Amino acid sequence: MRVLIALCLALLVSATAPLAAHAKHRVAPTETPRIHKVEKVAENVYCIFGQGGNIGLIVTTKHAVLIDDQFERLVPGLLDAVRTLTDKPIKYLINTHGHPDHVGGNVVLEKQVSAIIAHTNVRRRMVTEQAKLDPAKRGGLPELALGSEDTKERARLNLHLDDAEIHLLHLGPGHTDGDVIVGIPSVLVMHMGDLFFLGMLPYIDVESGGSFDGLTAQISSVASWLPDGARIIPGHGPVCGKKELLRYRDFLQAVQAHVKANPAKDAATLAASFDQAAWPEWKPRPDFVTWETLFSVASGKGPGRVARP
Ligand SMILES: [Zn+2]
Repeated sequence: MRVLIALCLALLVSATAPLAAHAKHRVAPTETPRIHKVEKVAENVYCIFGQGGNIGLIVTTKHAVLIDDQFERLVPGLLDAVRTLTDKPIKYLINTHGHPDHVGGNVVLEKQVSAIIAHTNVRRRMVTEQAKLDPAKRGGLPELALGSEDTKERARLNLHLDDAEIHLLHLGPGHTDGDVIVGIPSVLVMHMGDLFFLGMLPYIDVESGGSFDGLTAQISSVASWLPDGARIIPGHGPVCGKKELLRYRDFLQAVQAHVKANPAKDAATLAASFDQAAWPEWKPRPDFVTWETLFSVASGKGPGRVARP
């Protein structure tokens, strides 16, 4: 649980609010949980920003589908934001991965959705963590789990809901070992979860089975087939498109090439000798992912983030 709480603190980040505002998990008495902002991404597809990972909303002829849900305490405000867009019932909740700033609302939302859907490894890790909790605080586990515990095995699930087709893809270890990309092919939109950080350096959670080389391979693969004109909801950062994804691929490959070209160098030396200024879209955060921790994980020596106090 300590790991999950620490992750939760680390990932309390939104695209619209400064880092300092998210330094604590607890809600200050004066803080209102109704902080969500809505952006239309395509016809019947929206991004909802709040605190934590970006949320996706797909509206079909009779239902809605939610992708991720941030934190339990924010669910009332999230549902208010959803109701400004549709009054249709939320049939499915999809989790892009298992970090608390993406699944924290599951425990509330499970009471009103038909099923929560995620990768098998998301369910497995949540079961392990919840075993340490008071039984009254458990819940919100994915009921439909795609893929296997073999982290290298790819998996796919196609949802056919009313007039909509939604694809879930697991391409192997990346940010964690349970990431799924959610695609809506009819409107060329993808929610990439935390496989895509835009605005800050990417976090690879090695303790949860993440892999820098795996992430780089996944992003390179997606970049090779993503159509022009596609819209992307990243896990953290603004809604973007293929241009930003190609930059992200180039950035990850540049980091990887720098590590391979300097096999004997430590992470601090690798970071100092890398052309950081060439990649202004990815900024370090001293309490989370720095250039040094990124090179540490890229060279297979670190957990992917700054050590917790
Ligand atoms: Zn995450």
